[in-house]
Amino acid sequence: MQKGYNYDKFMIKDKLFSEKVRISNNLKKDFPIFKNNKKLIYLDNAATTQKPNSVLKNYIEYYEKYNSNIHRGIYDLSEMSSLIYEYSKENISNFFNINSEELVFTKGTTDSLNQISRMLESKCELNDEILITIDQHHSNLIPWQKLSQRKGMNLKFVYLDENFEIDNEDLLKKISQNTKIIVLSHVSNVTGKIHPIKEIVETIKDSLKIYNNSLYFVIDGAQAVAHLDVDINDLNVDFYAFSSHKMYGPMGIGGFYINKNIKNDFEPVIYGGDAIEDVTELSVKYLEAPQKYEPGTQNVAGAYGLSLAVDFLRKNRKKNSIEKKEKELFNYLYDSLLEIEDIKIIGDKKNKISLLTFSHKKIHSHDLSYYLSTNNIAVRSGMHCAYPLYKKYNLESSIRVSIGCYNTKKEIDYFIKKIKDSISFFNNLDDK
Ligand code: PMP
Repeated sequence: MQKGYNYDKFMIKDKLFSEKVRISNNLKKDFPIFKNNKKLIYLDNAATTQKPNSVLKNYIEYYEKYNSNIHRGIYDLSEMSSLIYEYSKENISNFFNINSEELVFTKGTTDSLNQISRMLESKCELNDEILITIDQHHSNLIPWQKLSQRKGMNLKFVYLDENFEIDNEDLLKKISQNTKIIVLSHVSNVTGKIHPIKEIVETIKDSLKIYNNSLYFVIDGAQAVAHLDVDINDLNVDFYAFSSHKMYGPMGIGGFYINKNIKNDFEPVIYGGDAIEDVTELSVKYLEAPQKYEPGTQNVAGAYGLSLAVDFLRKNRKKNSIEKKEKELFNYLYDSLLEIEDIKIIGDKKNKISLLTFSHKKIHSHDLSYYLSTNNIAVRSGMHCAYPLYKKYNLESSIRVSIGCYNTKKEIDYFIKKIKDSISFFNNLDDK
């Protein structure tokens, strides 16, 4: 929370935030997309989630009632807008159990990871090593490829075991005195596997203790935040990136956590107004983090929307047990798919969020997905922005099904029926 703002002046805190989110027993009714697309079976939640009423309505209300630029105006509307921004940041930070001074808003995970890789550049030297697991989304791979090329570093890959979990032996074999950055995803967007970040961090720190080198842990949390109760503080990492739109919030905003012990150690990657304490003709003095990393006009409505999404998740986890429901649906989906001949699911059922990816031995995933789409089922097909993973393990183009808080057993039944229908349809074509 920035100094100098006083909630009491406007008596807004409750009115603007916690009171806005209502709990509904029928979650689907809380999402207008389903009113406007009555037949839609949306199973592409890993790509983006739909938005509840509280997020949508108040996002618009922000522009209708409070729109003004933050931090700079000495008038009520601007102060109000600043409060909304700062309180949103505080609320989102609480959700992740971090301090609001450790949260930098960005456009989302991709933006965060690109910025982090640039920020770390000045700490890296020739022959330093980046350790990265093979199941990264391209957003968490290409920035590290580019960094290692710019600095003459080694990009070393850690591979997976037969269940697509991180191979600890391989990991331990590859860490060395030169290891500088460890890049991991909390949850894979292809396999849905949840990686034990806390344990991995402990193991690595332990085995590198003798060298006393300064290590940076960078975690891609894009697929974790909507499904796990993420306590970033407890993970003991340096950076953690996420996107709002994958956790029921608006697009165009997200952020990264930067550990308070290192938060001021870096040069910002983007320069501009509102991030500086002083500027002369030839020099600049930045404000303290996180403001030094947030120059220019910020996405205030986005921050507000994300804060409401966080409230939505918080309340529905507690009152509607959405994690438990998602898990039950996932187990049901996994078991039902497994019974279908010629279907191969990537990775076993253990340690997954409610996401799975599968292919059919004879029918291309694009064909199956197209058939599903003609039946109003939205899933994703392809190599899911993780080409190196597909190449390493000879995986085929596949269909990803990702469950969100509003999906129902009836929808999964319908999905299974339609998958079976589509397989018979294409098998019959072959017979003709
Ligand atoms: N990492 C992972 C694991 C993802 O699933 C995604 C989105 N598919 C991203 C990064 C990129 O997120 P965004 O497009 O929101 O920047």
